[in-house]
Parts: sequence; C-alpha cells; structure tokens
Amino acid sequence: MPRTRAADDVAELVAAARDGQHRAVARLISLIEDAGPQVREVAAALVPHAGNAQVVGLTGSPGVGKSTTTSALVSAMRALSKRVAVLAVDPSSPFSGGALLGDRVRMQTHATDSGVFIRSMATRGHLGGLSAAAPQAVRVLDAAGCDVVFVETVGVGQSEIEVVSLADTTVVMLAPGMGDGVQAAKAGILEVADILVVNKADRDGAETTTRDLRNMLSLTPHPEAGEPFWSPPIVKTVAVRGEGMDKLTAAIGEHRGWLEAAGEGDRRRLRRAEAEIEAITLGEIRARIGDVRGAGTLPELAKRVLAGELDPFAAADELAESVSST
Ligand code: GDP
Repeated sequence: MPRTRAADDVAELVAAARDGQHRAVARLISLIEDAGPQVREVAAALVPHAGNAQVVGLTGSPGVGKSTTTSALVSAMRALSKRVAVLAVDPSSPFSGGALLGDRVRMQTHATDSGVFIRSMATRGHLGGLSAAAPQAVRVLDAAGCDVVFVETVGVGQSEIEVVSLADTTVVMLAPGMGDGVQAAKAGILEVADILVVNKADRDGAETTTRDLRNMLSLTPHPEAGEPFWSPPIVKTVAVRGEGMDKLTAAIGEHRGWLEAAGEGDRRRLRRAEAEIEAITLGEIRARIGDVRGAGTLPELAKRVLAGELDPFAAADELAESVSST
C-alpha cells in the first residue's frame, strides 16, 4: 500500500503548494533534493502548473553583494505586490535541507512574509547535479504562484554557467576594485549578462568600473540584422542601503517584457528544458554504470582492455549496450 499512499501525498502536497503553503513547498523541494523514488511523481504532478515565473539568476564573485542584493530585491518586489522566491544553490556542498544558507540573518527580514519563499539547496551528490535539481525546485516555486524566482549561486566557476542555462534573466554583479571587470570579461560572463550591476557604488572606483564595463560592452559584437537584440543595462547599486533597487527592479521587468516581445522567452525555456532532460539522462546513465560496475561488468571490461583483448572503444560499446539493456 505504501505506493498508493505516496501518490496521494504528492498530489496533496502539490495542491497545498499551489495554495501557497510554505511547508508543502519546502517538502516538495526536499523530495527533489533527495532524488528518491518519488521524484518522478513530483515532476509529473508539477509540470502542468509551471510557466508563469520569471527566473532571475544572480551571479558574481563571493563578497560582491549577491545575498544583500537579493534580500533588497525581495523587498522591492514585495512593494510591488509580487510573490517572490529565493533559491540559494550551493553546488559544492553536500549538506541539505536549507540549514546551511537558509538561516542567513539577512533573509530573516522576510521570514514572516507569506509572499516570500526562501530555500537553500545543496546539489552535490545529486545525480545530474544542479542542472537536474534546480529546474525542478524552480518548478515548485513557480507552481506556488511566484512571479519571480531569484536563483543565487554560491561559489564561482561552472555554477555560473549553470545558473545561466537556468535563468530567463541573468544578472551579473561586479563591485569596484578587485579587477572584477577584467575577470568578468575573461570568464566570458559579460556575454551572458542580461543586466550588469555595479554594487558597492558607495566605494571609490565605481565610476571606473562602470566605464570599463561600458567600453567592454561596446566591443561585444552585435548580432545579425533581424536577430533579437538586447543591450544589457548597467545599474549602479548600494545594496546595503537599498539604493538602486528601483532601477534594478525596473530593468528586470523590462527584460521580461523584451523576452516575450522578441520570442526569446520561449527559446530560453526550451533551452532550459533541454538542459534539464540532458542532465537527468546523464544522471540515469551514471546510475546505471554504477549498477553494472556493481555487477562486475565494468571491472571485467577493464581487465580485458588491460589484457589487450579489447580496445577501450569496443569496451565502451559493450558497456553502453549493457547499460541500455538494464
Ligand atoms: P555575496 O557573497 O556575494 O552574497 O555578498 P554579501 O551580500 O554577503 O556581501 C558581502 C559583504 O559586502 C557584506 O559585508 C555586505 O554587508 C557588504 N556589502 C553588500 N553590499 C554593499 C554595498 O553596496 N556597499 C558596501 N560598502 N558594502 C556592501
């Protein structure tokens, strides 16, 4: 009987989440994070109810002011009566359950606001990683009626690129000093920025950083005529004082309008679904390879390669064969 009961639970949880109940939202995200047997059921129950939220990714070096900005943005969005969520993702952490980042003091401002959902997620060890888990968590928040879902990543590097594949709108944050602008250009992050933020504008050097960015942007090639074109605005903010949040909120809104008008929104949603399917598939394949390793197939193939009986490509063919037949 447990199967039937589990199915009822998921349906109930999704109904409660759609009703905006925080506990149901948290439980569903935990189910996704755990990647247990119910995760398929959760995905199937959610998929008809998603598609309204604007997913806004925030990225930038540690210390640039991402969480301060996210918190200030939440306040600004609430002032516009928007329902908002923050999904803080730590791709490098094995800890789960939101305790790691979810209890951040900054976010406690919003803890009692029923129109704000805040959740941390650890994705290390999740088969398929951030690319598989985060879109599913976003879907929960979307189904819960959020107008905007902020996805904030902790750490740099690959995760920045992953956040981009997830977001409708990517906000790249920089701060004066630290040669941030140059680093951003090197990391190729400018090309993926829809909105650039120069935070800590109360510090010396904010003007220089802004000017450098403007110069770098002017060097990025324009697309072919007829292709949708969005020129990323540069917004100066002092997140600790909430300054510039009105402009940033407006830029996020304008970008949403442009996405829909230019048909780019659909394109990004498709790209996101592709990345998600791919990540789930890779996760499945990895799990099956783990199974055949357990069954001795992989070690057996390795021995035959070492013995010179089989070349590694032929061995890979055999492995793929046994993986797809499991
Ligand atoms: P994150 O690591 O990118 O999430 O950065 P945080 O939001 O934790 O901010 C890092 C530090 O910078 C904190 O001590 C903030 O108080 C400070 N900070 C954030 N925004 C500003 C700002 O606009 N001006 C100044 N001077 N400090 C800021």
